[in-house]
Amino acid sequence: MPSDPDATSGTRGDARYVPFHRRVADVDASALAAKRAATLLVNVGLRCDLECAHCHLRCSPERDELMSGEVMDSVVTFAEALQPDLVDVTGGAPELHPHIASFLTRLRGTSLPVRLRSNLTALGGPARELVERLSGLGVGILASVPFDEGDAPGRDPSLLSTCLETLELLTLHGYGSEGGPVLDLAVNVAGPLCETDAGSLERRLRERLEAAGVHFRELLLITDMPLGRFADDVGIDVVRAYTDGLVKLFEPDTLSHLGCRHGIEVAWDGTLWDCDFNLGAGLRPPAGFRTLDDVDVAAIEGRPISFGPHCYACTAGAGSS
Ligand code: SF4
Ligand code: SF4
Repeated sequence: MPSDPDATSGTRGDARYVPFHRRVADVDASALAAKRAATLLVNVGLRCDLECAHCHLRCSPERDELMSGEVMDSVVTFAEALQPDLVDVTGGAPELHPHIASFLTRLRGTSLPVRLRSNLTALGGPARELVERLSGLGVGILASVPFDEGDAPGRDPSLLSTCLETLELLTLHGYGSEGGPVLDLAVNVAGPLCETDAGSLERRLRERLEAAGVHFRELLLITDMPLGRFADDVGIDVVRAYTDGLVKLFEPDTLSHLGCRHGIEVAWDGTLWDCDFNLGAGLRPPAGFRTLDDVDVAAIEGRPISFGPHCYACTAGAGSS
């Protein structure tokens, strides 16, 4: 691996491009290292019922990467040692993992807060029977909603009605109610967040959902990453132009809340990553943090983060959740 992935990546065309880690160092050298891992992100596999054009992991129904029972055992042990504020389970569509119910039950047995990331289509369809279990366990849900009013590439507006039905099902099981399990929503926006009126988007989404009796806690906005299927589909010239646009929108204030600085991720095969986007980019953390077998839990805080050109998507405008 190159020591400076930014310096050798061909994903941008501007000769004045400044590698991300140097841009960070110029603003705040302490932001090159991780703080306490408040979130343990666990990616249980790449199988998904959807095949979104913006998917940075190229997930699809054909992918067969799934976390084994042995790795799940190690994750539970790791979570107990790490003591994060949240264990955040993702995929793919994690609901489709055949052992997801027992895995979540064991994670909740550690008394740690647990959240499942859901695209809402799997949970309202083939994994429908999981909803009652999730509610009973008090597992929170972060649900992605295709609420971009049909003008972003790769999102099927017809999915919105399917997602609304699943949100109503979750509401029936107490999600979003006072004292009930937490429901947060996420929307992928096409383009840097400063070009999106976040307040207006949230207001319109809240109005639409509350009319159906659905209540959520907070809305997270996520910028498309110049990675994975998005990069495959648009081609290198568009990726370069898109990344150059992100670079111009670098906002120093976003550095304090980058996900990599406050978390660590375990992938389905037991490898460790700074974040899910680095997993998509294949950008490994430094030696000593590469698998559950070689990790020193005490050294996670303060580890150097591996940054690449895609990181500019996290710092553009208002930043990306
Ligand atoms: S973006 Fe999410 S819902 Fe879409 S294919 Fe990827 S994992 Fe599945
Ligand atoms: S892509 Fe990952 S490593 Fe890069 S800034 Fe965002 S959270 Fe951090």
